[in-house]
Amino acid sequence: IISIKGLRKSFANQEVLKDINLQVDRGQVVALIGPSGSGKSTLLRCINLLTIPDGGQITVGDQSLTFQGAHTRLPSERKLANFRASAGMVFQHFNLFPHMTALQNVMEGPVTVLRRPKKEAEALARDLLKKVGLLDRADYFPDKLSGGQKQRVAIARALAMQPAVMLFDEATSALDPELVGEVLNVIKGLARDGMTMILVTHEIGFAKEVADQVVFMRDGVVAESGPPEVVIGNPQNEATRAFLARFN
Ligand code: ATP
Ligand code: MG
Repeated sequence: IISIKGLRKSFANQEVLKDINLQVDRGQVVALIGPSGSGKSTLLRCINLLTIPDGGQITVGDQSLTFQGAHTRLPSERKLANFRASAGMVFQHFNLFPHMTALQNVMEGPVTVLRRPKKEAEALARDLLKKVGLLDRADYFPDKLSGGQKQRVAIARALAMQPAVMLFDEATSALDPELVGEVLNVIKGLARDGMTMILVTHEIGFAKEVADQVVFMRDGVVAESGPPEVVIGNPQNEATRAFLARFN
């Protein structure tokens, strides 16, 4: 459902992504791990076009875009918006709209972007808040929610756009340790429901538990990838071993 071929991205004269290739099947969970600065966030941002790649091809579902540096002919705004909508993104800092309740945050995208009727958007938003265990917090503003609750609202908000895939960039890194579990449980539930996901995470135990595929990035390349039993359990690459040793 996701196919990335020959993806490249530089900032100034730093090559941050160098020929990245990655396939994700429908329903698969991919854990993306690697040292700080290895390009994990940039890769996720490219999949969602928050960052425009210099080269390569990205396919999400039935939509495909090819990039050729200055020669890239970007498609219409509408096509870009459709492409963006196919991947839901959850960030380390939840970026909820502070002046809207949890329910309004979840309804916002469907109403303003997808032009759904309010009634329908509200019913969907309530379903999603229920799914993340927050139906009783629907009318709370973000400043009255804990970090873990805010992040669960952010997940519901991303799901409300009915994306084909979900991208999580260190969704639990900013949380107090006692709040990490509730967010990981929601992600686990999505995995059980068959949602296709790429998770950038430093939770190595969690990656091992939920991921079908683990991708270890280093210096802008995929240094090693495969099933968690291998990449985490018995890494073949010296750099993967050195990286994982920090977590033991
Ligand atoms: P971390 O684990 O710390 O989040 P990461 O693997 O997500 O790291 P990226 O955020 O993708 O790493 O950054 C990779 C490199 O690209 C870094 O050297 C970073 O400084 C650089 N970089 C990222 N975004 C930009 C930008 N907008 N402008 C310039 N350089 C950038
Ligand atoms: Mg990052």
